[in-house]
Amino acid sequence: MGVFPKFIFRVKIKENLIALTFDDGPHPEFTKELLDLFKEKGIKATFFVTGKKIEEHRDIIKRLIAEGHELGNHSYSHKNLIFKKKSIIKEEIQKTDNLLRGLGVKGEILFRPPFGRLSFTALTVLASLNKKVILWNVPTKDYKECDPKVILKRIYKRIKPGSIIVLHDSGVERIGKEIVRQATIIAVKELINELPKKGYNFRTVSQLINY
Ligand SMILES: [Zn+2]
Repeated sequence: MGVFPKFIFRVKIKENLIALTFDDGPHPEFTKELLDLFKEKGIKATFFVTGKKIEEHRDIIKRLIAEGHELGNHSYSHKNLIFKKKSIIKEEIQKTDNLLRGLGVKGEILFRPPFGRLSFTALTVLASLNKKVILWNVPTKDYKECDPKVILKRIYKRIKPGSIIVLHDSGVERIGKEIVRQATIIAVKELINELPKKGYNFRTVSQLINY
């Protein structure tokens, strides 16, 4: 165990395998739509969920586990951890791990920080908990994009073996602002049809790491 946790942006492999990752869920509508698409094709993805949303949608977490997807920790409340003290950061991480364990998640639970941001304090907490920090090498900015073609263009531009693509199946609730993820879903639908034609296959993040 070092002072810093291990950071992963992309897994360095030569095979045409990539990981689709989804943040901020689960969402009662959008996560289910994605799960239906993945089930049809036998594709496994990775979902970085928040503790709060786990508590609201335990049934979806159970379905995610039953269908072989990977669950990762995206903090409890999705607060920006760079402003938090040690004890709060630890609680944000452990509470979410405990919720996932309680619903049957086994093995290592990977962590993705809210907003992809961490402070020195957060790094030391993550190292003490022996957490791997999963970021991405393919950003999509899908959370503020309503044109699926733009999302796809960003992905096709950056994709390579071992890529970690970040998408969002939900979002952070804001008053008067509805969470819409139709563009993401349309983009994913196209991706899972087109990428296999280019020789790519889908894996969970842990499957890439342990490949
Ligand atoms: Zn997030």
